[in-house]
Amino acid sequence: MAVPAGEFSSERLVIGGGLAGSLLALALRERGLAVTLLDPGSGETATELSYGVIPGWPLAATGLARLAAQAGARWRVLEDRHGALGWHPAHWRLPLPVSQVDGEVFGQRLPAVLAAAGVERRRGQAQGLERSGAGWRVDLVEGPPLQAAQVVLAAGSGCRALWPKLPVRLRSSWAGVLQLQARPRELQPDQLQLPLQFQRADLERRAPQLQAEAWIVDPGVVPRGRGALVGQLTLVRPADTSSGAPADPEPDPQRMEQRLRRGLEPLALGWQAVPARYRQARVSFCSEGQPLVGPVAGAPGLWVFSGFSGGFAQVPVLAPLLAECLADPGGQALDSLQRLGLLPQAAG
Ligand SMILES: Cc1cc2nc3c(=O)[nH]c(=O)nc-3n(C[C@H](O)[C@H](O)[C@H](O)COP(=O)(O)OP(=O)(O)OC[C@H]3O[C@@H](n4cnc5c(N)ncnc54)[C@H](O)[C@@H]3O)c2cc1C
Repeated sequence: MAVPAGEFSSERLVIGGGLAGSLLALALRERGLAVTLLDPGSGETATELSYGVIPGWPLAATGLARLAAQAGARWRVLEDRHGALGWHPAHWRLPLPVSQVDGEVFGQRLPAVLAAAGVERRRGQAQGLERSGAGWRVDLVEGPPLQAAQVVLAAGSGCRALWPKLPVRLRSSWAGVLQLQARPRELQPDQLQLPLQFQRADLERRAPQLQAEAWIVDPGVVPRGRGALVGQLTLVRPADTSSGAPADPEPDPQRMEQRLRRGLEPLALGWQAVPARYRQARVSFCSEGQPLVGPVAGAPGLWVFSGFSGGFAQVPVLAPLLAECLADPGGQALDSLQRLGLLPQAAG
């Protein structure tokens, strides 16, 4: 591919260096494939705020849920290969196998792990994509454009701005948590205090029918580093039908924090009043629970890997499958994604 002077060219460019983009990049390197990972490296992300909890049983009667129940084993393989990533067995109130990735350890270790695996990292924010020759030109907010034969959208809630015709099931919400510097004495380092049923899942399913914004709090607390995360507030807005206005703008953090603290009252432990840092991020999800994994319809060489509600369980088992597809786009791995119902066929 001819590359104009000053442009950077690579075979494969993954846009977004959160959980999805990073584990996909590692899976591509496991196959010996060259990959460049683009991320601005700033701003709050779903991966940063996540509890990182991984249920060891299927949460639904779907092929994806059965696959995701094996995620703990995949995290062990990743740690054998790359060293500590923060994964550890945990305890919940029911005697079911559960584990957690400590977000602080994961965030600290990731840069070194990616570098050691040979992932080329670029700092920058993509602002547009265009077909160019046999591949894609990716324009950046700052600096010269990038050029790649294959481009994967793994930018979480930033995917739709880059490719508006992604299927409508890909949506976004706002999540809020409180971060405590020190873990409460009552909470063991491997203890998860979480509701039996998350209202978030129900709200995400109802998203297409919403006429007005809706928010819920799933009261819970989990360890993170030496501290803890307390949450979780979820705000979902109806689909944006206006033209030109930025979709899903950031809600007022003070108002969101008040909602969260009020919603934590059922924990009855007084933690809702303690000094803590409120953090919020825009988060992608799919209203039918099935993330988008595969080639984008009508855009040869463009792929998507986004819309995970339980990314820490889904991403590690799906990244190797998508890496196989990228290595051999006509191969059998695509059939597996089709059977799982994850291909992003319909544009709209
Ligand atoms: C409070 C909370 C608790 C959660 N708890 C759990 C849990 O217990 N278990 C679980 O499995 N999941 C949980 N999740 C969900 C999980 O965190 C997500 O599924 C996962 O982190 C999604 O990762 P991602 O890489 O797709 O998205 P993100 O983490 O949002 O990453 C996207 C990346 O793309 C980058 N980006 C965006 N736009 C651009 C652009 N234009 N150019 C370049 N880069 C761009 C961003 O900077 C970011 O780094 C939780 C989420 C939240 C918010």
